[in-house]
Amino acid sequence: MDTFNAANEIQDLQYFGEFGGVNPSISDSSTYTFLSAKTMFDTFEGNADGCYLYSRHSSPMNLYLSQALAKMENTEAANVTASGMGAITSVLMEVCKAGDHIISSRTIYGGTYAFLKNFLPSFDIKTTFVDISNFEFIENSIQPNTKVIYCETVSNPLLEVADLKKLSEICKKHNLQLIVDNTFSPLSVSPQLLGADVVIHSLTKFINGSSDTVGGVYCGTQEFINDTKNVNTGACMLLGPTMDSMRSASILKNLRTLHIRMKQHSYNAMYLAERFEKDGLKVSYPGLPSHKDHELMKSMMNKEYGFGGLLTLDAGTTEKANELMELMQQENLGYLAVSLGFYKTLFSCSGSSTSSEIPEEERSAMGISDGLIRFSIGLDHDIERTYRKMKECMKKTGVLNHETISIY
Ligand SMILES: *Cc1c(COP(=O)(O)O)cnc(C)c1O
Repeated sequence: MDTFNAANEIQDLQYFGEFGGVNPSISDSSTYTFLSAKTMFDTFEGNADGCYLYSRHSSPMNLYLSQALAKMENTEAANVTASGMGAITSVLMEVCKAGDHIISSRTIYGGTYAFLKNFLPSFDIKTTFVDISNFEFIENSIQPNTKVIYCETVSNPLLEVADLKKLSEICKKHNLQLIVDNTFSPLSVSPQLLGADVVIHSLTKFINGSSDTVGGVYCGTQEFINDTKNVNTGACMLLGPTMDSMRSASILKNLRTLHIRMKQHSYNAMYLAERFEKDGLKVSYPGLPSHKDHELMKSMMNKEYGFGGLLTLDAGTTEKANELMELMQQENLGYLAVSLGFYKTLFSCSGSSTSSEIPEEERSAMGISDGLIRFSIGLDHDIERTYRKMKECMKKTGVLNHETISIY
């Protein structure tokens, strides 16, 4: 038997359009007719598989995209949503009810952090934030009402790697759900194989890859997905973060090239990380042996896809970071923008952007320094040329000063 390969799984799904088209047809309808009134009743009751009712619940194109993503994550089923936050909030509100408790990594996406810290307590759901590599502290934080351990495979923005196998052992022992945001490492890490119960993505990033839409997905058992879509009690059905069919069609088409893009993002990021490190810059990339989770990442990943497209560089101060980012943008080396997974390199200063929801003292305790620039490395054809130009910018702005330049 072949070993699991996420890209092969996606590729093996075959869809045809209504008129034999090579792409599945977009269903341009929000509501669906029934030949008999009885079937409509059964559908409401959840007893008429394969019938479409109303597009907030299901639509043909959303099911196609969900199925492809379930294949990619090796889960029974999946459900696409209008944004990554739509997926995260639906999943957490499905699994946790008033009085429940969550244990979450403290280095997570700023929006998720804000949701756990500021929003859920008003529903009497509290979160303990932990260093995700401190297993003893994690186990000691488990309470009788704890339901979930939440983390990101590769965390935003510090690129810390969560030991999913170890975390899933803790979850199994204490009957908790392991919920993993895999946005930074699609194809390269398959959290379900390592024991995750629910796998989430912001499709906005690498999976769609063209920075033209937001989108999300959560992948899990068929039973869990059905529960979230239940017309009476399902968090996703009732909160309503539904993806539009037109968008799911375009994301499905972009998914077709994900395996090629991931390889190029990783190749380019590795190239730059190695050079920057030799130049004496403070660079962090899971592909570098100097990264504290390098060996862990190696043990979890599918090597074909490399270590991903993200790296961070500490420019020292916010002023220096801003000066460097503005110059790089002027030189057309990338865009000063949040988000990631675009064909073009994107850079932003995490402390003043995507992690600004996290209070300053907590940010510095985590290691998000003021001058930390997060790079999402693009699909540049000639990365050696990009490196030379970036180095010029770093010299001009003094981020790379003469003492730090090695002979290399
Ligand atoms: C962007 C992002 C999200 C949120 O996704 P949206 O599509 O913006 O709602 C969640 N988690 C991670 C790791 C992200 O990078």
